[in-house]
Amino acid sequence: MNNAIAFTYVVAAVLFILGIKLLGSPKTARLGNLLAAAGMLAALIATVPLLGSYDVSPFSQERTLKYVLIVVGILIGLAVGAVGAYSVKMTAMPQMVALFNGVGGGAAALVATLEFMHHSSTPEGITHFFAVTMLSAVLIGSVSFSGSLIAFAKLQGYLDKPVTFSGQHIVNGALLAVIAGLCIYLVGFPTNAGLFVFLFVVSLVLGGLMVMPIGGADMPVVISLLNSFTGLAVAADGFTIDNVAMIVAGTLVGSSGTLLTLLMCKAMNRPVTNVLFGAFGSGGKGGKGGNGGAGDLGGKTVKPIQADEAALLLGYAQQVVIVPGYGMAVAQAQHQVRELADELGKRGVEVRFAIHPVAGRMPGHMNVLLAEANVPYEQLCEMDAINPTMDRVDVCLVIGANDVVNPAAHEEKSSPIYGMPIIEADRAKTVIVLKRSMAKGFAGIENHLFYKDNTRMLFGDAKTSLQTLIAQLKAS
Ligand code: NDP
Repeated sequence: MNNAIAFTYVVAAVLFILGIKLLGSPKTARLGNLLAAAGMLAALIATVPLLGSYDVSPFSQERTLKYVLIVVGILIGLAVGAVGAYSVKMTAMPQMVALFNGVGGGAAALVATLEFMHHSSTPEGITHFFAVTMLSAVLIGSVSFSGSLIAFAKLQGYLDKPVTFSGQHIVNGALLAVIAGLCIYLVGFPTNAGLFVFLFVVSLVLGGLMVMPIGGADMPVVISLLNSFTGLAVAADGFTIDNVAMIVAGTLVGSSGTLLTLLMCKAMNRPVTNVLFGAFGSGGKGGKGGNGGAGDLGGKTVKPIQADEAALLLGYAQQVVIVPGYGMAVAQAQHQVRELADELGKRGVEVRFAIHPVAGRMPGHMNVLLAEANVPYEQLCEMDAINPTMDRVDVCLVIGANDVVNPAAHEEKSSPIYGMPIIEADRAKTVIVLKRSMAKGFAGIENHLFYKDNTRMLFGDAKTSLQTLIAQLKAS
């Protein structure tokens, strides 16, 4: 590798790290994304001269063909990525992340497979070290590929419920044993390309089977974990083909994905093993059918409220906390939410937004939507900051949030979300919930909040309800 390429790789690595750092705040996230993308572009451009460097002549037919293939690959990738990114709905972003992540893992596995097939037949053969890096890349990359496809299918609604069957852990254990046996054999005798391809296939099956039983509500954690898998597979490829940029980028993705996974598990108060093996959410997904308007929890009923009364309560409040959730994203009501907050602000009401780390369908979902509507960052409060102040809040306005405000997490030991930290909306003096029906949230369970004495339900599409509230406030 010449100095210019090595220097570009260092610049790219610095840009990746800066990018991740800036992604830590909604204020700087866009710049962070741009910097990281610029780093990736620089690394890509620097890598092109390295390709085909084994050829004798720089103008050989083989090398020209490689460049043509690279350009065609880049163009296809650009087209798919750009069309996907522009056309995807904000609510479908996690699916797209899962899909793109899976493709990355699959590519890492293919690179390792091709390298193995190529070198296993050469006289020099494959050293034990390179056998380990190739095996790691194919194993982790293909688990990430098939796991991500299943995650995509679940989030897209193609697979509604966790798929479980008796003896599932035994089957997975047996597959793991086969994989371990193949790996040990192939490290000792790295010549059998057929067995390597078989390992690829078994790993694909394991990835799918691992994700199948996991409930939809745990998909963000799974995607984050698979993301880190892809990073590690890419880093292993980096060792295999001696590419520093891949090692650095892969390690960064691997470590940040692992950290995000652990932080999300901490936010839900559940160990990673429980997410992976707990078949959480197998009780069914209520969001699509749910309780369909029954509104009955052990004989308790909910208390509806009309928009004019809700507007009065808001207008006379001193402190209002708004808890946005997935329903705000579905209704695309973020602009109306900001308008309502502005209107209340004009009346001297102190308005804050309580952001739960897993509200919506992807980490940072609410931050992105509220930033799009120009809600000042100072008004956004994290769960840990807002909860201790909830007793003093006059009105807590829950807009399309459900699971993240469900007190069952504190009250019902048998609940699948027991122990998960929530925004403690129920501690506010009055809670007004905006949703269309009594349908359940993503976790598919009843929400105790809706049946509390201090809770009133404002039924309807969140955007329409907010427009009515704003009109009522303006008219009063
Ligand atoms: P939930 O999925 O728990 O609830 C959303 C609520 O929004 C539903 O009860 C629905 O009720 C309501 N809603 C839907 N459309 C509208 C509309 N147009 N107007 C008004 N209300 C509407 O959302 P939360 O944000 O509270 O919780 C997120 C859940 O998703 C958690 O379980 C989390 O684990 C999971 N998850 C999170 C991800 C992340 O990374 N953030 C990724 C994937 C899953 P109704 O139909 O009656 O209107």
